[in-house]
Amino acid sequence: PRDADESASPPGEALLKEVFGFDVFRPGQGEIVDAVARGDNVLAIMPTGGGKSLCFQLPALMRGGITVVISPLIALMRDQVRGLRELGVCAGALTSGNTPEETDAVWTMLHEGRLKLLYLAPERLANGGTQRMLAEAGVSLIAVDEAHCVSQWGHDFRPDYLRIGELRRALGVPLAAFTATADPETQEEITRRLFDGEEPKTFLRGFDRPNIHLAFRPKDNPRSQILRFAAARKGRSGIVYCGTRNKTESIAGALRDDGHSACHYHGGMFPEDRREVEERFAVEDGLIVVATVAFGMGVDKPDIRWVAHADLPKSIESYYQEIGRAGRDGAPAETMTLYGADDIRLRRSQIDEGNAPPERRAADHGRLNALLGLAEALGCRRQQLLNYFGEASEPCGNCDLCDKPPLVFDGTEAVRKALSAALRTGESFGMGHLVDILMGNDTDKVRQRGHDKLPTFGVGRDLKKGQWQAVFRQMMGFDLVRPDADRHGALVMTDAAVPILRGQETIRLRRDVIDRAADRRPQVK
Ligand code: ADP
Ligand code: ZN
Repeated sequence: PRDADESASPPGEALLKEVFGFDVFRPGQGEIVDAVARGDNVLAIMPTGGGKSLCFQLPALMRGGITVVISPLIALMRDQVRGLRELGVCAGALTSGNTPEETDAVWTMLHEGRLKLLYLAPERLANGGTQRMLAEAGVSLIAVDEAHCVSQWGHDFRPDYLRIGELRRALGVPLAAFTATADPETQEEITRRLFDGEEPKTFLRGFDRPNIHLAFRPKDNPRSQILRFAAARKGRSGIVYCGTRNKTESIAGALRDDGHSACHYHGGMFPEDRREVEERFAVEDGLIVVATVAFGMGVDKPDIRWVAHADLPKSIESYYQEIGRAGRDGAPAETMTLYGADDIRLRRSQIDEGNAPPERRAADHGRLNALLGLAEALGCRRQQLLNYFGEASEPCGNCDLCDKPPLVFDGTEAVRKALSAALRTGESFGMGHLVDILMGNDTDKVRQRGHDKLPTFGVGRDLKKGQWQAVFRQMMGFDLVRPDADRHGALVMTDAAVPILRGQETIRLRRDVIDRAADRRPQVK
């Protein structure tokens, strides 16, 4: 099986998966979770959308007792409480927006010792009863969201935030403060007012890893693409990530045949064999490890010069984590990620076939879409990647698309033809058959189904087979069509495609991948 049983994880990561349904931490989250769970005083500065709530919600589950969360935004607190309850976590909020019944329910959970997270509006702190109640409730952690509200000079100043320092002193528990505001004055004021001037462990790290060159390539012949990439980097340590255990073994073999020093690594190996690979990788120069996602947790080698993906990772988070293993020393490092229509189909069906609840599946599709959008990006990849993690940036000058901006063309007409082929055949067929219809190929399947009588039959003779495949792949990348796992990858149109079909929106496609597909020798059917 692909990936499924590949990660043996420490407690935090196990809960990340079990409770929140996330495969990996986002950049920065892992270290913050560790520090907060350990009981350090923490100040974490993260961009909005970077995933800071997880950095106190997860430690709240790892520590005994109750975590008090102070946040200025009632709507946000209610959202988080609802979200946590859906995940099966006992959480409640005390705010001015509560009905008396809601407040009673929170008190009951508190007295029964079931409550794990208690969200508190700051004005509650002015109430002596609240402070007494908290002193008796077994609080083990205070988390402060939007911690910059304690700054009298900022425009979000909340006078009640000034009481938080007092609460911390009274309870004698660690405090974790979160904000997206990074200026030194605000940091200093947070330290002074929330931590009595004692420096907390501070996390201020942009997500960017500017020394890592980013590149994606459509999958053509993956083995030779990987061999070519490795050949140009002979003698430098690298990792090749593969989607299956078999593939790690065969690619490692091919690399050795090419004169590289290479070994494979996956979750099906004996622990001592795995340890041997880890140890060799740590000390040997120029070793290539060809691995499943099982390889990574213990990898702490600063001078990994390159990471290649022979198969598309699961999500944009996994992608960033895996390429992030390269170039920890800050020296230039290179990456290449291969992706093809088969990868997209496989990743979709893994999500659909999993037994996760519908909301979680929808979120997984979203994270996969984000990665596909990055694969099919029309502009700087780093800009798009950082933007996903909440960080604004300029074009980077260190990705394949900055090196060589892609040629784009108006693909609206091609996409409409492709959509119409799918719709006129009841959204019941996969890419191969739809391409046959578009190109007017007289196959048995086409004739048996009477698809040669369709108005769409042969309307796409202007493009070659490989070019249509590139159009379909980009359509999948933009999530205009999705393969239906229950019906052998039949392509189903999504809502995103409606405005294009109706002529209300146009779409740009990359010309270069299409041209490259046309250059290729015609494939034997
Ligand atoms: P903010 O930093 O603005 O508070 P949130 O905590 O609301 O951000 O998180 C933003 C989004 O990121 C949420 O939709 C959350 O579900 C998602 N998210 C957080 N951590 C992860 C992760 N490790 N993997 C995938 N998605 C994540
Ligand atoms: Zn760039």
